[in-house]
Amino acid sequence: MQITRSVVETRAALRHFRRAGKRIGFVPTMGALHDGHLSLLRAAKQKCDAVIASIFVNPMQFGPNEDFSKYPRTFELDCGKLQAEGTDLLFAPTTDEMYPTGTSAFVDVQGVSERLDGKSRPGHFRGVATIVSKLFNIVQPDRAFFGQKDAAQVAVIRKMVSDLDLPVEIIVCPIIRESDGLAMSSRNLYLSPEERKQALVLSRALQQVEQAFRQGERTPQCLRSTLIEVISHGSAAQLDYAEIVDPNTLLPVEKAVPGSLVAVAASFGTTRLIDNLVLPSAE
Ligand code: AMP
Repeated sequence: MQITRSVVETRAALRHFRRAGKRIGFVPTMGALHDGHLSLLRAAKQKCDAVIASIFVNPMQFGPNEDFSKYPRTFELDCGKLQAEGTDLLFAPTTDEMYPTGTSAFVDVQGVSERLDGKSRPGHFRGVATIVSKLFNIVQPDRAFFGQKDAAQVAVIRKMVSDLDLPVEIIVCPIIRESDGLAMSSRNLYLSPEERKQALVLSRALQQVEQAFRQGERTPQCLRSTLIEVISHGSAAQLDYAEIVDPNTLLPVEKAVPGSLVAVAASFGTTRLIDNLVLPSAE
């Protein structure tokens, strides 16, 4: 696996793949890789001829009181995992390489960026949209792979790609969970054993909503109450949001239907976790 640190080097390496007629698959990450990330790499391997990953902890998407400085950085371990998945190239730039003169241009996807996580984390999705468009311009992938785990991020990226006519196909891969249901996240590393146990209320709440939906419940208020009850009772979780929304606009729905997004965010101690579920069609 080739590792590049600069934009110039990365572009030169990619020219080589492109000349060979390879379809380029791209998996952007912030590192501290787990099986969720690896599932994206596997999907890219399946659907493309060359797999490019990036690791960059993007300061622009963290708020002033968020976890940028303590975000887990496990570069050597990550390289081993990427290599084992057959990744062709890893782009791992420094902050100076990505923002050499500070920042003056932004990509702002208005509307969706102010909903769900964007509401609780002002400026977060401006940081995400800006870095992802920079990475797209550097890598120029045919396909880029994102996790459904970050459902609001998916909505922002899809809207950006569509509104700016970016020539990339966005592929969204399912949420990978621990065996007990907890959605995998690099931030799970922060949880104490007690918080780790409590964090299971998120997936449990989503499962109960799915069950209620399968039994015919369609009222968003009722489904929300289930979420709030399960999350708030019997755990020290601090609920941030629990919403039933349209997966593209992230606006609340009037009636829950197959395809509606059930999204939750809550803090356990100082660790904020998110999880979600797309309501199923009848079997
Ligand atoms: P991050 O390193 O947190 O920026 O995540 C990089 C990519 O991995 C994003 O597209 C995430 O949505 C995706 N991802 C993170 N956790 C999971 C998971 N548990 N299952 C599937 N994809 C995930």
